[in-house]
Amino acid sequence: MAERLGLDDVGGFVFDVDGTLVLRGPDGRGAPQPGAVEVIERIHASGRPLMLFTNGSHVGAGVIARGLQEDGLPIAEDEVMTPIESATTYLLRRHAGRPVMLFTSQAIREQMAREGIQVSDADDAEAVFVAHVDRADFDAMERAARAVSRGAPLLTGSYVRGYAGANGIIFSRGAMVTAAIAKVTGARPRVLGKPSRAAVAEMGRRLGVPTERLAMIGDDLSMDVVLGRMGGSRTVLVRSGISGPLELESIPPRQRPDAVIDGVADLLAML
Ligand SMILES: [Mg+2]
Repeated sequence: MAERLGLDDVGGFVFDVDGTLVLRGPDGRGAPQPGAVEVIERIHASGRPLMLFTNGSHVGAGVIARGLQEDGLPIAEDEVMTPIESATTYLLRRHAGRPVMLFTSQAIREQMAREGIQVSDADDAEAVFVAHVDRADFDAMERAARAVSRGAPLLTGSYVRGYAGANGIIFSRGAMVTAAIAKVTGARPRVLGKPSRAAVAEMGRRLGVPTERLAMIGDDLSMDVVLGRMGGSRTVLVRSGISGPLELESIPPRQRPDAVIDGVADLLAML
């Protein structure tokens, strides 16, 4: 199956990180998967742009990039994006100059404020954005719920229940906060990370390539493949991560990628 899909004509590449390029141990360090370094080097040598898109939102993309560099991936700092980047672009475009209530880490709060988001914890919020948080603040959640009841959109980086950890699922605290506000207001959260229109737009903008000409490579059907399909990109699912050993024909048509490969090393024959 994989041999039939060539990637020599695509204009750029978007890779998921965990389960695709690296597998993380209990210490949080990522072990590059077989072929990961060679694939990145080969794409760099071809002059085509690439982006690593992780759904993590606890620290900035620069910090994640430096960690992956230490783990051995030959990537540049500006080759990593997270839901924070697509959310920031979305908020600056749709809510420019209007107060936004943030549920994020302190580092992300500072980053988003630096980039021009009008951060507010008061009763005047006109949008609420939830990413990774360490603690629940019920007073803040109540203020957010009141803002959402008044019509402020409830936005979130990711609304999946959790992430694959070394000892099973790590439940998403961001999803817990989002769900709590959604429950009491009846609002439907809008995702700005994987998969979303906002993320598709950000990928195309950052790579300078229409998303129809991109290849999206990832291990998660409901995030990476759905994201790629949303943008009309070519999609490749790797079996090295969360989806495990899947056959193309067994995947529901709505989520079906263009190819399924064992791991990123198989891309070397397709580039
Ligand atoms: Mg993954």
